Amino acid sequence: MLKWIYDLSYDELKEDVCKLKMPGYVADQIFQWLYEKSIDDIAAWSNISKQNRSLLSRKFNTRPDKIIAIEENKEGTGKFLIQLIDGSRIEAVLIREKKHLTLCISTQVGCALKCKFCATGIMGFKRNLTCGEILCQVLLVKREAAASLPQQKRMPKVNIVFMGMGEPLLNYENLKKALAIITSGKGIGILPRNITVSTAGILAGIKRLEEDFTAIKVGFSLNSPDATLREELMPVSKREKLSEILTYFKNTSRKHRLTFEYVLIKGVNDSLKDAGKVSALLRGIPCKINLIPYNENGNIDYETPSAADVEAFCEYLCARNYTVMIRWSKGRDIKSACGQLAVEI
Ligand code: SAH
Repeated sequence: MLKWIYDLSYDELKEDVCKLKMPGYVADQIFQWLYEKSIDDIAAWSNISKQNRSLLSRKFNTRPDKIIAIEENKEGTGKFLIQLIDGSRIEAVLIREKKHLTLCISTQVGCALKCKFCATGIMGFKRNLTCGEILCQVLLVKREAAASLPQQKRMPKVNIVFMGMGEPLLNYENLKKALAIITSGKGIGILPRNITVSTAGILAGIKRLEEDFTAIKVGFSLNSPDATLREELMPVSKREKLSEILTYFKNTSRKHRLTFEYVLIKGVNDSLKDAGKVSALLRGIPCKINLIPYNENGNIDYETPSAADVEAFCEYLCARNYTVMIRWSKGRDIKSACGQLAVEI
């Protein structure tokens, strides 16, 4: 049985390479081919001897997961449907912004958290993604973005947000292994400060992430300042208490400001009274607030608030010295916006 190479950390690969009686630096060369040059055909790895290439191809499978469909809209947002080795399907999103690219990456097939407003939550949970399955999304989407650049245009800066399908911090070990390769100079080499991990609020996971990767940004999906309503919308908060998470945020220092995500749902959590509670709740926490007007899904009843209500909510918080961004999602027309990712499982 061939080993799928993307599931191996640098140290694991090096160990295997040494077991094959090759010098350790071959692991560096392999990493360079896979993650820097994005060339997965072993035959093309020209700085490795023919004999070693043939040994490697008898040991490793270097084929990445398969993109089975790409849907793009006029703004340049692309949704990638990716098929995994076991046939499961996931989605990743490429958002082309003026000066940079944002890759929105999934961490699980489906999601177990059942947030009432989210299409992924409704589809249920199948399994965690492996390290390689997380990595391959980055590789594949980046490769596609590079291929679509006009000639001679340099690759823009790449940001990664773990805001695709699933709860990243409930798949921490695999996320950590993938992040090590994504951020390493030997690997994909994306700076930790250009990566955001978004969570519904898994406190033990937040602590581990902040310990292991001090420069990676944490996004916390607040979605309601009211603990009772939040528990209703996001059942996970019955066990992961909002008050405990906020106490942790208040008492620990970090390199970066936290991001609070707040999905604005018409008539549910979008009143100025809610804005007042948010303002009081986050006082003293260095942060920015992303307001995401609700993206509607066919089979969920919630609605997008009016632009005027979104503005009013935003202005209320701005007037109280918060940094607030309104994130009208790109890619709503191709169902690739926040909370719209869902495939059959
Ligand atoms: N499980 C993680 C990451 C996935 S969801 C988390 O909860 O943070 C990514 C973001 O999309 C979260 O902030 C979530 O609250 C938001 N979201 C979910 N459904 C949405 C919808 N229909 N419209 C807008 N944002 C949504």
